[in-house]
Amino acid sequence: MSGEITDVLVMGGGATGQLAAAYLRMRFPQLKIAIVEGPHKNRPIVGESFVEITIDFLLELGLGSYLIEHHFPKYGLTYYFKTEIDRPEDRTYVVDETPTVPPLLSFQINRFTFDREVRRRNVESGVEMIDGSIDQIDLGSNRALHSLTVRDAEGREVTMQARWLVDATGRNRLLAKKLQLNDKVTLQKDVFWFRLANFNPEILGRISAVKKENRAFVPYFATHHFFGKGNWIWCIPMRAPDNSPFISIGITYRKDVYPHGQVRTIEQFLECVGREHEMIVELVRSGTVCDTNYYGSYMWECRQHYSADRWYIIGDAGNTVDPLYSVGMALSSVQIRQIAAMIQHELNGHDCREFTKDLDTAINSFHHSLTRDTTRLYECMGDAYQCHLRVHLIVTKLFHLGLPALMNDYLWDPLGTKLINRFADLATLERESKEFHDLIRRVAANPKNHAIENFIKVQSSDSMNYEFYEYHREEELPASLRRMLFGLARLRLDLLAALGWRGWTEFRQHRAVVRDLLRGLALLPFHSRKLRQNWLARRMFPLHQNMPAHEEAMPNAANSAPHSTNDWMPAKPMMRTQAAGSGSTAAREPLPDDN
Ligand SMILES: Cc1cc2nc3c(=O)[nH]c(=O)nc-3n(C[C@H](O)[C@H](O)[C@H](O)COP(=O)(O)OP(=O)(O)OC[C@H]3O[C@@H](n4cnc5c(N)ncnc54)[C@H](O)[C@@H]3O)c2cc1C
Repeated sequence: MSGEITDVLVMGGGATGQLAAAYLRMRFPQLKIAIVEGPHKNRPIVGESFVEITIDFLLELGLGSYLIEHHFPKYGLTYYFKTEIDRPEDRTYVVDETPTVPPLLSFQINRFTFDREVRRRNVESGVEMIDGSIDQIDLGSNRALHSLTVRDAEGREVTMQARWLVDATGRNRLLAKKLQLNDKVTLQKDVFWFRLANFNPEILGRISAVKKENRAFVPYFATHHFFGKGNWIWCIPMRAPDNSPFISIGITYRKDVYPHGQVRTIEQFLECVGREHEMIVELVRSGTVCDTNYYGSYMWECRQHYSADRWYIIGDAGNTVDPLYSVGMALSSVQIRQIAAMIQHELNGHDCREFTKDLDTAINSFHHSLTRDTTRLYECMGDAYQCHLRVHLIVTKLFHLGLPALMNDYLWDPLGTKLINRFADLATLERESKEFHDLIRRVAANPKNHAIENFIKVQSSDSMNYEFYEYHREEELPASLRRMLFGLARLRLDLLAALGWRGWTEFRQHRAVVRDLLRGLALLPFHSRKLRQNWLARRMFPLHQNMPAHEEAMPNAANSAPHSTNDWMPAKPMMRTQAAGSGSTAAREPLPDDN
């Protein structure tokens, strides 16, 4: 094995690494893909609620029927807001659940069985598995090969070389540490979680739920999120191999605002959670705890994820994601598609520098805006009124902006990325969220507004943007954005009205209403049009990056990868069956920089 050259080397065989290898194997059957699996085979497993974006990616990987046969469907994320948080015995919750069966698939995943299955499929499709730990990395620049030293299970050292290097080493963060790319995160969180078997699932329903009547699905099949002071708790029901009741339960809390002390053991969990949610304690006591896990201060951020020198940092190796909206694996799946787009771009003979930078900016904004917003939410998680409105705000943006852009490949397409970076940049997203939060805080200051009948936005089907999902065509995107902007303006007006006469003096908020309305109106001429094909968008963002990287790249590029019919659109992914059978030893076409 020593000195062996691999096209793509994935460092780390967790879920992100295995899925990256699977996807790249499918997209580029001519490339040799290897994973160096880590030394920590018994690392904690977490991340069991897979949202629509993640599932869209897994469907492309051909895992659809496997998911249906082996995992529970998920009917959205259900949020429980408790108005009397200081009275644990009170079981009244304002419940925000999806108003009907969501039009796109999502699942609750038993990660123990899922991770094994993805790995098994990778072995079958010819991904090389290397059992060892990476000791040293020498990064190549200007298309030079990367060199790695791997220590195998017997302690022997081997060197390996790779054209493209993907860091999926999770909490070990090999590249981010080596290149000092981590930014300090001061607002830290701890998380404690466990799996529970043989419990009584009916206990989850022993609450007094304030919600619209739902006859579309069994409410148990959702990811349940309970809010408390400076913390929230997840309950994710999942399928055990023998079909017995099995559920993942965890608490994540921001250390500086959580009032009940540290939670590292089941006893501490029962004591601390017992001060807010009696029902959850009853649920845990009804079953058998299978494992317990804890991460202290688990938040970090990475400044740069991708380099035109062909290294990429993905999954937890880059950023931790606050799991409140279950988007961890969704972000990993976006990153994997982005890497595939960069490799494809290069194989097509294009210069990748600008594209790489744009993708890096886009993924940073997506992650940082969502995570920082969630981190700030902990300050008012114990205030059901503020919390429900802020969750509604994020869900609105996720479903009207994030999901439509992703379902139409905007985040891994040159022009789509430029549009996103121009109109949804991090500074704008953060500034506008803060503006809204200020208004919510002011409305919440009046105790009258905390009455349950004033929870004005719970169960709004507006926030789910359902019409869009019947088609999720690119030409529906302007309408989706317009609905979001008009919806935000309406919500702001409702809140200003709740302020009474003082609402008339909120000039900053009035300006924001006008701004959102004007933006919505500005989108009218784009109705039923594809933004990426609009002449204005193409003039604003001419794609210099489609220039050839270097003269000699072009002839080989024609052989090396499936081309898209239109160079600024991503190439259509190859179907899984096309990739099957091309094992790692199969002869491959020469690459642009083979000499
Ligand atoms: C509390 C919590 C709840 C979450 N809930 C959700 C959720 O509901 N839904 C969701 O989508 N996401 C969720 N996430 C996010 C998701 O779980 C993680 O993003 C994902 O599991 C991380 O996978 P990974 O492969 O990036 O990292 P890991 O699973 O940590 O894998 C890293 C791998 O790299 C290997 N490795 C490390 N160092 C080396 C080395 N030197 N050499 C070789 N190999 C090495 C390790 O052995 C390991 O196998 C959650 C995250 C947290 C923290």
